Formats: sequence, C-alpha cells, structure tokens
Amino acid sequence: MDFSDRIQRVEPSATLAISNLAAELEADGADVVDLSVGEPDFPTPENVVEAGQEAMAAGHTGYTPSNGIPELREAVAEKLRDDGLDYEADNVIVTPGAKQSLYEAVQTLVDDGDEVVLLDPAWVSYEAMVKLAGGRLNRVDLSPHDFQLEPGLDDLGEAMSDDTELLVVNSPSNPTGAVYSDEALAGVRDLAVDHDVTVISDEIYQAITYGAEPTSLGTFDGMAERTVTVNGFSKAYSMTGWRLGYFAGPEELISQAGKLHSHSVSCATNFVQHAGVEALRNTDEAVEEMVEAFAERRSFLLDRLGEEGVEAPEPDGAFYLMMPVADDDQAWCEQALEEAHVATVPGSAFGAPGYARISYANSTERIGEAVDRLVDADLL
Ligand code: PMP
Repeated sequence: MDFSDRIQRVEPSATLAISNLAAELEADGADVVDLSVGEPDFPTPENVVEAGQEAMAAGHTGYTPSNGIPELREAVAEKLRDDGLDYEADNVIVTPGAKQSLYEAVQTLVDDGDEVVLLDPAWVSYEAMVKLAGGRLNRVDLSPHDFQLEPGLDDLGEAMSDDTELLVVNSPSNPTGAVYSDEALAGVRDLAVDHDVTVISDEIYQAITYGAEPTSLGTFDGMAERTVTVNGFSKAYSMTGWRLGYFAGPEELISQAGKLHSHSVSCATNFVQHAGVEALRNTDEAVEEMVEAFAERRSFLLDRLGEEGVEAPEPDGAFYLMMPVADDDQAWCEQALEEAHVATVPGSAFGAPGYARISYANSTERIGEAVDRLVDADLL
C-alpha cells in the first residue's frame, strides 16, 4: 500500500508504547509499578455513572446534534463563565475526548507550512497533530527555567513573530505539572496580540492543582477573540474511557471547526453527554477528595525523592512530576522497566531529554515501592 506523506510524518504515542511494554511484562507474570499512565486511578463518581446509565435506559442512544446536546453545551458555557470566560452555548463544540477537540482546532487553524509554537516539555500529541496538519514546529524549551513560563518569556518572545500562526499553552502542564502565573499569561497575551497569533489554551488539568489558582488565558484583555479554550472530563472527573471533552472559541471558529466535527465523528456519544451534564453540576466533593489524595501522593513522592538526593522541580498541578535522570533518559526508562519493573516515560518524548515523567496517579504504597526498587537497582 502507498501510505500518505501525512501519516508517515508522525510516530505512535510514546506514552502508549511504554504502557504496552509494561503490559507485556505483566502478562509474563512481572509485578510492574506503572507510573507511566496519564489517568486518575479513581472510579468515575457514582452519580455520574448513574446519570449515564439512566440516559441509556431512557433511550438516549441515537445521534445528537453534531456540536452536542443543548443541555451539555449550556452547562459547559456556564462552567466557562464561572472561569471568567464570556461564552454562550453556541461557542462550544462537545467532542469525544479533549484530544479530538485539539485535533479539530489544529486542523481548522493550521495550513501547510504554518508556524506553530510549542512550550517544551510538551504533551506528545501536539507535535503529531501539527505535523498531520502540515504545520512547522518552533519549540521553546522551558527546562532551563524549572519548567516555568515567566522566566522563559524572553525566549518565547524571540520565537514568536508575525509568521507565527498558533501557540499552544497547557497549564497545568502535562508532563511538568507547572501552573503558569498570571504574569506569565499576561506576557503570552502581549506577544499573541503583538503578532496577531491564535492561542490554544489546553486546560484539561485545571481542576487538579495544589495551592495554585490557574487563570484561564481567554480571560485576559484582548484574548477572547484569539483563544481556543480546551477542556474535558477525563482528568477532573476520572472519565478517561467515556471519551468526553470540549472546546470553546469565537463563533466563527466554531462554525468552521463544526464542519470537520460533523464530517468526522458526527457527535460525541449521546448518553455520555448526559453523564457530562451531571459531572459538571454535581461532583465538587468527589473532585475535592481526588485532589486531596493526589496532593498527599505528591508530597510523599517529593519527600521520598528528596531522601534519595533527587531534586525534582515541585509541580503545582496535574499528577505528574519530571524527575532528572540520566542524559540518556530513554535507556534509563528502559532499564527502570526491565530491571526494577517500574514504568515511567522518557522525557525526550516530550522534548525534555534527561528527565523521566513520573505519574503519581497511584497509591502511596506503590509509589514508595517504586522508589525503593529504583534505589535497589542503582537507578537513583
Ligand atoms: N491534553 C493533555 C495535556 C492531556 O494530557 C490529555 C490526555 N492525556 C488530553 C489533552 C486529552 O484528554 P482526553 O482526550 O482524554 O480528554
């Protein structure tokens, strides 16, 4: 078969590759501590499961309006208004997962040869999405600044020009857990306005922070008309397998992106959208409990690493931490998996060689076990 140039530009997701390898070891009987996963280890809140079941039983099993059921688009717009964003239901498209939102936004905005700026380390799929759209990547490395954006603003200023079409900002960040300060976001605004750049603000980890209060980029003066706000249900409500997310932006963008949406996925799953309304309206307590558990694990992990002399930049959000390892992070991660049976993701997959991404969406007991094993294998 003759495969398209487009598809040959991209590699399979590195995070999934590690999970697959870990699964193979487990199938051979190994006890693997999996710190590579990008999903909360909690069940979906019961009331949300019930809402999904009730919707299915009530016959909400057909297609929905392509952009989403009105109740959910309205609930999303309400949630975004609570974040200070000025959106109505018509500004929202509901997608099967936030990944599809990002994919649609990139396809809608990026032409062949267009420049897209990413802040490294960056989530693996941004690069693939931009390459699939034919875009050119320009990457700004925040690693020398402990992954913070504010001290990296000069570098970002040098990277951005009138040739830049799109900037992707992800705060709280996967893989670093960094939450960008208001000063940093105001700096992004200044650059985006100066160079007339559209910005995707991926806020999927917004609900998971430890003391930091992430501000939505679209709330800054001059940003409403140039921001695509992306969010979803996977992380905040532990709903990864339900596949539900959304993006919001100016109506013109929604009308253009809606064409791709209707010609590709048609709509997100009907009864899942009904469960989404419940998730947005009635889960404050469950989310709070989950974030408390993550906070405890984060402190535990930082303390244990500190005891072993490992200084990792302290993450303020999400459930990841970037741990400095060997120069050859790929080899380190392979060794960690094969010798210590601890699965992590090489930093180079995110544009940050020399680090491994640790997901602490696991019990403190297993996190402790992982650190012990890495110490025993002389990897820390
Ligand atoms: N953005 C980031 C930064 C992510 O880490 C993820 C999930 N790993 C997504 C978007 C997509 O999430 P989902 O499609 O499950 O909503």
